[in-house]
Amino acid sequence: MVSMTRGAYAKPGTSLDFKTGNWRSTEMPAHIHAKAPCHAACPAGEDQQAWFAKLQEGHAEAAWAELVRANPLPAITGRVCPHPCEGACNRAALDGALAIHNVERWLGDEAIRNGCDYPVAAPRANAPEVGIVGAGPAGISAAYHCLRHGLRATIYEASPEAGGLLRAAIPQTRLPRAPLDAELSRVLALPGITLNLRTRLGRDVSLEELRHNHPAVLLAPGCQASTAWSVDGAVPADLREGLHMLKDFVDHGALPEAERVVVHGGGNTAMDLCRLLKRSGSKQVTLITASGLPGPDTDPSDEINVVPRELE
Ligand code: SF4
Repeated sequence: MVSMTRGAYAKPGTSLDFKTGNWRSTEMPAHIHAKAPCHAACPAGEDQQAWFAKLQEGHAEAAWAELVRANPLPAITGRVCPHPCEGACNRAALDGALAIHNVERWLGDEAIRNGCDYPVAAPRANAPEVGIVGAGPAGISAAYHCLRHGLRATIYEASPEAGGLLRAAIPQTRLPRAPLDAELSRVLALPGITLNLRTRLGRDVSLEELRHNHPAVLLAPGCQASTAWSVDGAVPADLREGLHMLKDFVDHGALPEAERVVVHGGGNTAMDLCRLLKRSGSKQVTLITASGLPGPDTDPSDEINVVPRELE
């Protein structure tokens, strides 16, 4: 059996179980310390090689602990992240990319189910306290990383609940509320994080107050605005903004009734809308996107990374 402990493959003689032909006698490999493509592509900065190695050795909790050194929300990102890590995976050229996204979700769910402790120590009582505006994924992750560096964090959130767009605009079909609530509350319960809900910047607290009360302030209010859209400056009278439609659906469970709908875009918002419109009775949903569906001739850099099986 070959041990996959990280770094072992770089030691002479440890890769003999792999049948590599006669290259050893013709050319010696050079070991270069560099991020793996999946690591470099991950917006959360995860070191997937490191946590996969621990998982392969049979240590699921250690794999989760390694993963959350970078990303404290794997049960959530394992459901909503468009997983550019898999698009970058070298293994894709051989047979198929590793199922990083699904394994990440499983590790997150297992940690919730087993009540695994986050690998962070409570900060000192007099540790500097960072002010963070916004309790979405960015603000909550930032608060968690403050703890990892021995700092305290106070979050100011305008809404009555934490979660930002995760809660306000992602339908439960893609992100059920149980893992969302469980994972957010586990991070927010860590000692050293204080959450102030219903506290809007500019209404309930000013930037000057935050600067006065905290040695550092992070603004993480989220991406709540849709991109302006027109055709040569002309805006259709019945144009709707996708993000607002999703928020309305999450809040009220309703979408505009329309037999035929055109959705422009190829990201998660567009795909969520297409699915919801189909399920709510629209007969024809047409997606217009600059990118293509994955296929044998599609350049990986020009494909949407969701396969809309329900769409024509
Ligand atoms: S699915 Fe997870 S590992 Fe992959 S890019 Fe997203 S956050 Fe990173």
